[in-house]
Amino acid sequence: MSGVYLDYNGAAPLDPRVLEAMLPLLTEGVGNASSVHRFGRLQAAAVDEAREHVADLVGGRPGHVVFTAGATEANNLALRGMVEGEQRKRSRVLVSAVEHASVLETARWVAAQGLAKVDVIPVAGGGFVEPESVESMMGPDVMLVSVMAANSETGVLNPIAEIAKRVHAGGAIFHCDATQIVGRVAFDLETVGADLVSVSGHKICGPGGVGALVGTRRSLLRVRPVIHGGGHERGLRSGSINVAGVAGFGAAARLASEERNDEAPRVARLRDRLVQELRQRIPDIQENGNTDRRLPNTTNVRFAGADSDAVLVNMDPVAVSTGSACSSGSIEPSEVLQAMGLSREAAFESIRFSLGRFTTPDDIDIAVRKTVTAVSYVRDMTYTEAVNAAS
Ligand code: PMP
Repeated sequence: MSGVYLDYNGAAPLDPRVLEAMLPLLTEGVGNASSVHRFGRLQAAAVDEAREHVADLVGGRPGHVVFTAGATEANNLALRGMVEGEQRKRSRVLVSAVEHASVLETARWVAAQGLAKVDVIPVAGGGFVEPESVESMMGPDVMLVSVMAANSETGVLNPIAEIAKRVHAGGAIFHCDATQIVGRVAFDLETVGADLVSVSGHKICGPGGVGALVGTRRSLLRVRPVIHGGGHERGLRSGSINVAGVAGFGAAARLASEERNDEAPRVARLRDRLVQELRQRIPDIQENGNTDRRLPNTTNVRFAGADSDAVLVNMDPVAVSTGSACSSGSIEPSEVLQAMGLSREAAFESIRFSLGRFTTPDDIDIAVRKTVTAVSYVRDMTYTEAVNAAS
């Protein structure tokens, strides 16, 4: 499809090399990866290879990769599975205020079921979690702390290694949603000190609907399954494996590891040019969150006086996003931006641009032109006029 795609944090386009790795498994592959016959063994070999690439991507061990149907499921498994395993020993969970809905909603569910008490770690204007805040909230009753590596909406990076130290000093497990950081900034489970890590295929130019929870042996032993059945994936995720999806995820993980060092600085230059040109051409704009410590591909920009939904519909064919893609369609402004102290109004005026592997300088030129006209158009009109005019 033609257009300028700047919504990589929502879902990155499938790399053709990933598709190539998946196709034989879809067209020629047959057999269940758990079957012992020759067909099944071929499927299992593809899964094993993918397990190695995904383990490499996060610095874990292949045997400690639990394939899931995405990072949402991995986050559910980490939180719910750990709480159900540990609830008799410790009773409190900490999650940051800027987590993805799959962490926040699971935490709310766990609390509503009476399985654990949940406390939310606040963030300041920069949008990152201070290790000191974590330390001050720790206690002997805390079993699990979940803080993401990079925020999907602002790209802001959390000091996760520092946070992990505080969590471990309190004797708790550290879960890190690494969905947005992998392939963009170096991430290593051991260096960070993460006990459980969630990742997803479609953020790294792989297929959607596949992800993984990777852990240390010790922490995985403490997790209880959420999906019960034939005991696949160390007994933590029953169900026949989506072999082609997993193979695609593996190929995407390999490419992300191999190409990150070249791709990240190239994408950062394009992102910085985008911001610079928007600043030169549009008055009264501001980037949300700490810009010194963030993903190379992301900027979240507030265009004061221009409702972002109205800007968005006037930007076609440039695809960007307002708030988290997973909560778009809801009329509430971004929870993440509000947690950082932005007013509802400011959050409603903010747009995320997220670039990636296939973004070109031409894409940036078009995006700048389209944003400039859309913002000035919307600033001159009421919301209803702008939306009606676009439709
Ligand atoms: N965590 C983060 C930080 C994300 O950005 C996303 C995707 N928006 C998810 C989890 C959920 O991933 P998936 O789509 O694979 O379920």
